[in-house]
Amino acid sequence: MKGFFGEFGGYYVPEVLIPALEELEKEYNRLKKDEEFQRQLDHYMKNFGGRPTPLYFAARLTDKWGGAKIYLKREDLLHGGAHKFNNAMGQALLAKFMGKKRIIAETGAGQHGVATAISGAALGLETEIYMGSKDGERQAVNVKKMKLLGAKVNLVSKGNGTLKEAINEALRDWAGSVEYTHYLIGSVVGPYPYPEIVRDFQSVISREIKEQINKIEGRLPDAVVACVGGGSNAMGAFYNFINDKSVRLIGVQAGGKGLDLGNNSAPLIIGNTGILHGAKTKVIQDENGNTIDSYSISAGLDYPAVGPEHAYLQSIGRAEYTYALDNEAVEAFLELSKTEGIIPALESSHALAYAKKIANDIGKDGIIIVNLSGRGDKDLDTIMKMGII
Ligand SMILES: *Cc1c(COP(=O)(O)O)cnc(C)c1O
Repeated sequence: MKGFFGEFGGYYVPEVLIPALEELEKEYNRLKKDEEFQRQLDHYMKNFGGRPTPLYFAARLTDKWGGAKIYLKREDLLHGGAHKFNNAMGQALLAKFMGKKRIIAETGAGQHGVATAISGAALGLETEIYMGSKDGERQAVNVKKMKLLGAKVNLVSKGNGTLKEAINEALRDWAGSVEYTHYLIGSVVGPYPYPEIVRDFQSVISREIKEQINKIEGRLPDAVVACVGGGSNAMGAFYNFINDKSVRLIGVQAGGKGLDLGNNSAPLIIGNTGILHGAKTKVIQDENGNTIDSYSISAGLDYPAVGPEHAYLQSIGRAEYTYALDNEAVEAFLELSKTEGIIPALESSHALAYAKKIANDIGKDGIIIVNLSGRGDKDLDTIMKMGII
């Protein structure tokens, strides 16, 4: 069925938004084949974003773990410090080609808001960001960055003042402004066609990995490991390997403080099928079907659902989904910093922590690629507060 990945996905939205989603689908299908659009996308990815990002052999980490060769896909080196740029820039350009003068976005931790503000400034689009007021206090530096980049930041104080309320306000804005506004969703979530559009813009990651590892090692990797919040960096890292059955695709969710309800962000492990933010997918729920708040030490993974295509890849057994606990991620964060001279995002540290667990099983002849989705400067306060260093 159109808009579905197996039984997952779809577009469960208010009637007023259907024409907007249909317009987006039609325009996206036209523009993805448009030479001028592709030329400009390439230009911004390369000359503004810094693509291709390196595939780096982590020699000292490989030695230390004593198993498979560990390669790091360096999305942390992308403009803005994370993979989020691939999608924000792609969609902002899409908006411009669609004739929209304005982009809006919701943001939880502020990382997607900053990526959107960067893209809006680069293309001269009016940019407005919705953020829960509590999130805005917790992520004050990102609010300042967004303002500096020329975006208007709306702090939403309704309800809990977090992501949920920000999404509602952004949707309300879009329903009344769709003629001249594009709603720029930040991960492979939400109603169709967003999960497909975001995945396509992020799939540059696996396109590059494939070329790079073939050049360096002359073969495919044994496993690609990526952290999963909404799931965009993982979808991007997996996508071009889906038909290569010898490559294990491993998504690592946030196990938080443990697998009991309310202590983690692992819907693919403890969730049920439900509908959240316009899509049918795996959601963390209580027995009455109410969404339960998620938790993770890393703000970027703190989401109670997941992109529908991941739920599908899990259902057909093509990708494996597991988790890393807060303390395992922190340990990996410290280990990569000291061993390789790279401070990773706490999100990416979840993927690293799991790669460590399987390095010996995959063995010395094996190759593991870890998608290093972002850099860890933003997480220094969290680490310092723990009193470790
Ligand atoms: C936002 C973020 C994530 C989580 O988002 P996905 O859509 O699951 O990729 C992971 N890593 C970093 C560095 C982020 O900023």
